[in-house]
Amino acid sequence: MVLKELFGLITGVLISSVVAAQNTVSQKIKTYNKIGNLKVDTSFNKTYLKDFMVPYQEFADLHNCKIKVKSKNIKTTMAARPNFLSLLLGKNNRRYIIVVNKKETFEGVHLKDVPSDARIGLFAHELMHIRDYESRKVTGVMERGVQYLSQKGKKQVEHYTDSLTIAAGFGQYLYHWADYVLHDSDASDDYKQYKSQIYMTPISILTQIEESLLEY
Ligand SMILES: [Zn+2]
Repeated sequence: MVLKELFGLITGVLISSVVAAQNTVSQKIKTYNKIGNLKVDTSFNKTYLKDFMVPYQEFADLHNCKIKVKSKNIKTTMAARPNFLSLLLGKNNRRYIIVVNKKETFEGVHLKDVPSDARIGLFAHELMHIRDYESRKVTGVMERGVQYLSQKGKKQVEHYTDSLTIAAGFGQYLYHWADYVLHDSDASDDYKQYKSQIYMTPISILTQIEESLLEY
């Protein structure tokens, strides 16, 4: 009888410690929805995901890329970057991360405030960063990292990425995004000024859309 009780007690302690351990693990590990090679943090709002899929579905060349969308505290609304370690594993094993800012006190643009059309423009732009990385060898991707260290380099990369977005047929959406950031958002004046220095302005986006139409 004593043995049986002791056995019961040990089993009980074991089970509860395993359950407790699982709880700590599940609190630390993020859960993801998997759509092909795309993994999306479950905290990424369903409406955002619907908007994200609009450009994603169009970019068939990116469907083979392993892309993870997750939220983090960052200094911009969203950013796309390669997973640094995966760069060393060869092109077929590259992984990319698109991070969404979750910092409430951020002075820039919060995704939740962005209208759907503008959000699609931003998502298309982030996906074009990945198309750009994919077109580059490891050294070329590293070069992008170096460019990000200076304002001039950053401007070159972002203007190029905006051009890719327009060429991919998402110019109108990109225009909505740029126009929203500068004219309708609650971002601070400093942030707006920074954005207008680094990215294409709404007017230059429209000009480039017109030029691209003339080429046909
Ligand atoms: Zn960008």
